Amino acid sequence: MLALAPSAAGQSAKSPGGGAVYLTKPKVTSVSCFRGCASGGRARAGSTLKVLGSGLLAVNRVVFRGGAGASDDADVAVRSGSDARVHARVPVGAVSGPITAVTADGVGSKPSAPIPILPAPPPPRPTRNPKLTPVPGAGVAGAPLLETGTNTTKAYVDARPGVTFWFRVSGTAPSSVTVDLLNAADGTTVKTWSPQVVPGAVQSVSWSGRIGRAAAPPGRYSFRLTAAGADGAQARSAQTAGFDRDSFDLYDHVFPVRGRHDFGGAGSRFGAGRAGHSHQGHDVFAGCGTRLVAARGGRVQYRGYHGAAGNYIVIDGAGTDVDYAYMHLAAPSPFAAGGRVYTGQLIGAVGETGNARGCHLHFETWAAPGWYEGGKPFDPLPSLIAWDSWS
Ligand SMILES: [Zn+2]
Repeated sequence: MLALAPSAAGQSAKSPGGGAVYLTKPKVTSVSCFRGCASGGRARAGSTLKVLGSGLLAVNRVVFRGGAGASDDADVAVRSGSDARVHARVPVGAVSGPITAVTADGVGSKPSAPIPILPAPPPPRPTRNPKLTPVPGAGVAGAPLLETGTNTTKAYVDARPGVTFWFRVSGTAPSSVTVDLLNAADGTTVKTWSPQVVPGAVQSVSWSGRIGRAAAPPGRYSFRLTAAGADGAQARSAQTAGFDRDSFDLYDHVFPVRGRHDFGGAGSRFGAGRAGHSHQGHDVFAGCGTRLVAARGGRVQYRGYHGAAGNYIVIDGAGTDVDYAYMHLAAPSPFAAGGRVYTGQLIGAVGETGNARGCHLHFETWAAPGWYEGGKPFDPLPSLIAWDSWS
């Protein structure tokens, strides 16, 4: 049997046949926006990136690593036809940062240089919702008539109310109605409702951006209504390949400061020097009284007053491993420990209580197991910048 010397560039693994095979470690040398780019050739969600390098033939996944830890990573499946080049579509939810090309065997390239990513443009459809509009097209003989509408083009995981799809089925006596929620990126059905048929009535279904208990991945989704007439003839509000109608973008966080703000100077940064310690969060400056909302819903873990933090509240993000702390609030938050808060819900106002110079939100993000429970704070600025770009 021929013995191959291991090379520094490769990793060895056992093949199913028992012999050793050598997996080439992919290398990314350049990344540029190739198709569907924003002005100046910048990438945004939906753009296609051209990734050049070597060892890319076995790559089947590109990870957009964002800024802080794994919580803002976004993956996209790719199919490479070349060792030197692969195309990757930027998923909605990807934020600025390096990318990594990963093979089917899980071998990843070194992170690329950071790539700036702009948020996606809003879905191309009328904004007159929730007004219902008839489904265009010739219709199917013997099938019911459909009208549909969706109340927003932008939805957030764990928000209340969720994104709502309105519909009316009329004409030929409908015998069954199905509402499917489709992931526009791959056409898969994420959720299905089978409401009772009420011919001629306006009906609705709502979705909170969760699949079971888990948060659905950020991205574009669309509702599709299917109704069958008594003789089985079906009408559909959208075709499998068309996701523009009744579509919306799902985001995983909302920017918490709802007014004019700035991210301050060097002293506002995570890790900046403070007397006897380093700054554990980021300071977002805004006028006192500016509304503060929950960046992500969840369970209130603490609410209180502290000499340094002032009025503060800590929320254990539902479906995340992250705790979110908001400090120097103008007044105590109306939410008590144990209470349930939803994404985007008002939790207080910007203030300067405690040890604060100037009105600002001191915002902390903590990795599992959480805020002063053994977890560690991490720099929230990359996330804040991303959330600010879309909300
Ligand atoms: Zn601070």
